[in-house]
Amino acid sequence: MPLLSRRFERIKSVLNRRMSNLTILIEEVEKPHNLSAILRTCDAVGVLEAHAIFKQGTIPTFNSTAQGSQKWVNLRKHENIEMAIKFLKKKGFKLYGTSLNTNAKDYRLLDYSQSTAFLMGAEKWGLSDSALKLVDESIFIPMRGMVQSLNVSVASATLLFEALRQRESHGMVPNSGEGVNETLYDQTLFEWSYPEVAKWCRSQGRHYPKLGSNGVILESLPRTEKFRC
Ligand code: SAM
Repeated sequence: MPLLSRRFERIKSVLNRRMSNLTILIEEVEKPHNLSAILRTCDAVGVLEAHAIFKQGTIPTFNSTAQGSQKWVNLRKHENIEMAIKFLKKKGFKLYGTSLNTNAKDYRLLDYSQSTAFLMGAEKWGLSDSALKLVDESIFIPMRGMVQSLNVSVASATLLFEALRQRESHGMVPNSGEGVNETLYDQTLFEWSYPEVAKWCRSQGRHYPKLGSNGVILESLPRTEKFRC
C-alpha cells in the first residue's frame, strides 16, 4: 500500500474510535508535563476535544510527555470557567467537578455513558469554588494513603478510563466513526491528514477540499502550498 494510503487508513481508524461526547475541562493546570500527560490520555481513551482555561497571559506548552498527542486532540481554550461551563452545558454535557470535599461522591458510583465532562483543577489549588458551584455532581477518587490527592494527570486518566470502561461494558464505544457527527468527522479527517493545507484554507477563508477514498485531495490547489500529509 502506498505511504499516503497507509497513513490515511491509520488516521481514519483512530478517528473512527473518537468520542465527541466525552471530554475533560482543565482549569489553570500550569505544568507542561501535566498538560501533556492529560492530552496523551485523552488520545488513548478516544476523546475528540479537550477544554481548558489558562491563567491570563500564560501560553500552554507541551513537553515530550505528550508524544505528539496534542496534534490529535484539539484543545479548545475558553476565556473563563463560566464561559467554558456554559459552552459544555449548551452541548448537553453533564459536568462532573473533581473535589476533595466531603460532599463529593465516590466516582465509581456514577454513570458516564452519556455526554460527560470531567472538570480538573490546578495543581496547587484544585478546582475553583465558582466551577464547583456550576457542576452537576462533585466526585472524588478515594485515597488510602498519607497524601491527600493524586497528581492531576493521574486523576484525569483514572476518570477517563472509568468512563471508557463503562461505555465498553454497555457496548457504547464507537468503532466506525459514529462517535462524531459527519461534518465534524470530515473536517477532522482533513485537518489530521493535511494540517498545512487545512491551515492555508482557514487563512484564505475557503472550505476544505474533498478527499478521495484513498485520502487524495480531489481539488486542484495552488502549487505554492506545501501539501504534505
Ligand atoms: N490542594 C488541592 C485541592 O485541595 O484540591 C489539590 C489539587 S490536586 C493536586 C489537582 C487536581 O487533581 C484536583 O483539582 C483534581 O482535579 C485532581 N485530583 C487529585 N486527586 C484527586 C482525587 N482523589 N479525586 C478527584 N480528583 C483528584
